[in-house]
Amino acid sequence: MEAIKGVKNPAEWLETTIKDFVNKSPENTLQNRENEKAWADPLVGFSRGDDPLYQEYKEKIGTFYWTPSEIFNKTFPELKVELDQLTVISWILPQVESTKSDNREQTVYPSERWARARIYGEEVNIKLRQYVVATLQGSGFKAVAPMLSPLWKREKSERYGFASNWSERHAAYASGLGTFGLCDGLITPKGKAMRCGSVVAHIKISPTNRPYQDHLAYCLFFTHGICRKCIQRCPTGAITETGHDKVKCLKYIRQTTVEYVKSHYGFDGYGCGLCQTGVPCESKIPIKQDVETYESL
Ligand code: SF4
Ligand code: SF4
Repeated sequence: MEAIKGVKNPAEWLETTIKDFVNKSPENTLQNRENEKAWADPLVGFSRGDDPLYQEYKEKIGTFYWTPSEIFNKTFPELKVELDQLTVISWILPQVESTKSDNREQTVYPSERWARARIYGEEVNIKLRQYVVATLQGSGFKAVAPMLSPLWKREKSERYGFASNWSERHAAYASGLGTFGLCDGLITPKGKAMRCGSVVAHIKISPTNRPYQDHLAYCLFFTHGICRKCIQRCPTGAITETGHDKVKCLKYIRQTTVEYVKSHYGFDGYGCGLCQTGVPCESKIPIKQDVETYESL
């Protein structure tokens, strides 16, 4: 373990680093005329590099899926690091209210703000990953953002169709930040309308408590057999009671919405997120009464 250089509480230090970047940096922008923020105040969580969940992911998704130690060791092959000395730092970037309210009104295509969040907001997320890695390394802690690794790629999972060798949402689930919904999105305390990111670092931090028993704990369809609002919101029939059809969804986003975004908003982009907005789990962990509220609107 490398020496902690002037960092008394690494969890607090990293949480502040991430929150300050999002809340104070001019990099957090939708790049529209008004220069609005792309993301609201983030959530941050931590999980141990040797958390058995990561091995379970590998067993379920495929041998190509990285555990934290695999991507760390591929990045720093010269280091000999004990598994329990690695931490996964995960964050949730909630959509801002104006982006959510615009997209709530949409029934087929993404709103301009949503499409901007998908493209320019993800650029912010990339810069945040780079910033977290640079901050850690500047203090003597080796770190890697798996999604930015040149080794990151999509593969074919026997069980789940196409899948990548690192999943930000699975890292967030392991880090106590939320559980999966019928549409595959991660339902967090700030809702499902968000994007997430992570970094694996050689630093020891106590893991965040996972306040749930299983990976579907926050979705009303799985807990109470109700809701299904995301099914109704999907313009392309990619969500059913049996789950989310990733191929159909991706085809719609990368083909149909690309043309729409270019012709209506004037930039090269795409997106959808209709199943993440105008649903009870959009901005919170939903309760039964939230479904009634949506029905009465
Ligand atoms: S909209 Fe309802 S059914 Fe769909 S993920 Fe959210 S809680 Fe689950
Ligand atoms: S992102 Fe759009 S196309 Fe994909 S599942 Fe959600 S609503 Fe359907």
